[in-house]
Amino acid sequence: MTRLTVSTDARLTVVDVTDAVREAVADAGVDGGERVCTVFVDHTTAGLVVNEAESRLLGDVESFLGDLVPDEGWDHDTLDGNADSHLRALLLGNSVSVPVVDGDLALGRWQSVLLVECDGPRDRTLRVVVG
Ligand code: ZN
Repeated sequence: MTRLTVSTDARLTVVDVTDAVREAVADAGVDGGERVCTVFVDHTTAGLVVNEAESRLLGDVESFLGDLVPDEGWDHDTLDGNADSHLRALLLGNSVSVPVVDGDLALGRWQSVLLVECDGPRDRTLRVVVG
């Protein structure tokens, strides 16, 4: 398992982590054949998805999640004011699985691994496991 740290620079933002994950898979030194890479974000206010890393689309994702979940009015806000962040993250999930073929991620042409920060800016930890 490899741990990656990703710094985010806004409260709600999407970060393309494909290159870092690909490097972690290469460093894992798996031999040929078919395997699975699991990427897991160990936080409750960030999510992981596989989608297209096109800059306008990433902005649309941020707008979409912002519009989908109201910023205020949640019970959890009385504790630490970030219920909207938790709710956005739970819509996304906290892990993705990507096939690995001959030691490299087998992503589709337009697919990238995207970390969706819902309560930044922060340093986030990702765990990359190839099994
Ligand atoms: Zn909270």
